[in-house]
Amino acid sequence: MSDFEQLEAEWAFATQAVRAGQTRTQEQEHSEPIFPTSSFVFSSAAEAAARFSGEQPGNIYSRFTNPTVRTFEQRLARMEGAECCVATASGMSAILATCLGILKTGDHIVSSRSIFGTTTVLFTNFMAKLGIETTFVELSDLAAWENAIEKNTRLLFLETPSNPLTELVDIKALAEISRKHDCLLAVDNCLATPALQQPISLGADIVIHSATKYIDGQGRCMGGAVLGTESIVGTDVYAFLRSAGPTMSAFNAWVFLKGLETLDLRMKAHSAGAMELARWLEQQPQVARVYYPGLESHPQHELAKSQQKGFGGLLSFELKGGKDDGWKLVDATQICSITANLGDTKTTITHPATTTHGRLTPEQRQESGIADGLIRIAVGLEDIEDIKKDLARGM
Ligand SMILES: *Cc1c(COP(=O)(O)O)cnc(C)c1O
Repeated sequence: MSDFEQLEAEWAFATQAVRAGQTRTQEQEHSEPIFPTSSFVFSSAAEAAARFSGEQPGNIYSRFTNPTVRTFEQRLARMEGAECCVATASGMSAILATCLGILKTGDHIVSSRSIFGTTTVLFTNFMAKLGIETTFVELSDLAAWENAIEKNTRLLFLETPSNPLTELVDIKALAEISRKHDCLLAVDNCLATPALQQPISLGADIVIHSATKYIDGQGRCMGGAVLGTESIVGTDVYAFLRSAGPTMSAFNAWVFLKGLETLDLRMKAHSAGAMELARWLEQQPQVARVYYPGLESHPQHELAKSQQKGFGGLLSFELKGGKDDGWKLVDATQICSITANLGDTKTTITHPATTTHGRLTPEQRQESGIADGLIRIAVGLEDIEDIKKDLARGM
């Protein structure tokens, strides 16, 4: 580590979010520049050869080296407390790059059942095609994780809190199990973000992000990231990215850099709004159950308090009625956006059973606890009183 990198590592989180990773060009720009160029020129044939062979570090081609993308990677790495970060074109390509970077045919994944619907499809349809099987377990059940581990298990994969039911797992305890069996523990930290939870400090090996969500924060760009050690992420995952090409664009990296600068503030505001809305929903007679880790009624409230710095912006609730009541509530809203995205300044509302989890079979949905009357809200940054009125309209 250089002296400056040492200094950056000692900065508090909010300072890293605003300043880490930036190196000014000779133009002395204040805000980070965008480098929209596919390739970089060399001063001589010898320099080109040295760059290509890896003898001399530096930019070559934006599929795997771009200064704006690198600034984003370095800043996010600081914020997650990771040695290394590889940015990708989307959250799904971050998960794909992790799997194909570190797994081979015959390896086995143990995954939480409560993961993003498309991740389930990636594991069951596409990883399985390559001879990489997945066993799904209950997120919070540590014994189930350990029992599912086989000789060829290489990767444990989870999201905590989960989407949409905000279940948690004790990352520290699972990391111990993972180490004991020589597996790698990957945490999709999309919902909490490093502002609320830093899985590497709790023992996770790999952190995955969909930057599309809270890192952007305003619903503009697709992107993702994989974070971890130099040997796993900096070598194996990076090698996959370089050869396969699901690369983050310089423009998107710049938008995400600006997103990181306000992440800490936004996550506090999202969390405060969600807490207020969750308390209100618990009072509504049409609501059977509210899922939010900040509520005392959440079965893992104590774990959430010790593992996270805040409870996040996402909550779900189950209406006493079924799908018809769910759709009625969604259709009656005038402010909430009916869209699958989350982590936006604009509050979004979804009916998971017929959208994000619609590709799962009814049995898979039932196993995952996605009831027909379930509604997911990703609380934005509007005045929460207006959101309450918007939801009351359809109840
Ligand atoms: C959205 C999401 C993904 C996928 O990210 P994309 O950027 O949409 O590809 C993965 N994991 C979680 C938890 C997500 O919410």
